[in-house]
Amino acid sequence: MIITKTRDEVERMARAGALVARAHEALIEALRPGLSTLDLDRIAERIITGAGAVPSFKGYRGFPATLCTSRNHQIVHGIPSADVVLEEGDLISIDCGAIVDGFHGDSATTLIVGGDAATTPEVRDLVARTRDALWRGLEQVRSGNHLGDVGAAVEAVARQHGYGVVREYVGHGIGRSLHEDPAVPNYGVAGRGQTLAYGWVIAVEPMFNLGAARTRLLDDGWTVETADGRWSAHWEHTVAVTPDGPWVLTARSDEPAHAL
Ligand code: MG
Ligand code: MG
Repeated sequence: MIITKTRDEVERMARAGALVARAHEALIEALRPGLSTLDLDRIAERIITGAGAVPSFKGYRGFPATLCTSRNHQIVHGIPSADVVLEEGDLISIDCGAIVDGFHGDSATTLIVGGDAATTPEVRDLVARTRDALWRGLEQVRSGNHLGDVGAAVEAVARQHGYGVVREYVGHGIGRSLHEDPAVPNYGVAGRGQTLAYGWVIAVEPMFNLGAARTRLLDDGWTVETADGRWSAHWEHTVAVTPDGPWVLTARSDEPAHAL
């Protein structure tokens, strides 16, 4: 069942989104070789709890941390650790969620440690194109469009460049719960699927692999990595369907919240 939100609730969700955006901005600013993924987790947790809010992921089905940090060939749900020390050229996917006033915000970035010059064109392009696919999907989050329009827009970018599109993990509705209906796949057929309406709030989150789509779950019960060991990128925003078009609730200050 899809739980639509009132205008007032969407505005409350925008406050959660803004806090998640602020945490990501701090992480982007802080990221450098030598930091551990647990260091990143502490930065995010300090910002979220310092604002009187609650991390969405900590304790979710027993997840132990504020962030999911997934490095290189890991796709999603990596557990922050003092033992995972970032090196120049690493790819780090950082997923962050926060609860403000009862509502969740959820957003992910994939960053290159040491900046674009620290990696290969192949990895740089994977990161940029996965981010581009996210925005192509967000543009489709409009009343009267179908869920298939969102998935098809995301998938088209991957097809164009031959990336594997992860199928086992998808976007989702979001609100008072971190994961609500509907599922929002990163693939689909334009014009198919449920029709979006005002008050829907969903997380769009493409996960693209340099190699095949297939995934593998590690023994820790959380970390998802590519089955073939090739690298992966993940970008995510929480977005509301409004009469003014898509409202990207987790947009950072260098990104458009409305101008799509
Ligand atoms: Mg997320
Ligand atoms: Mg999500």
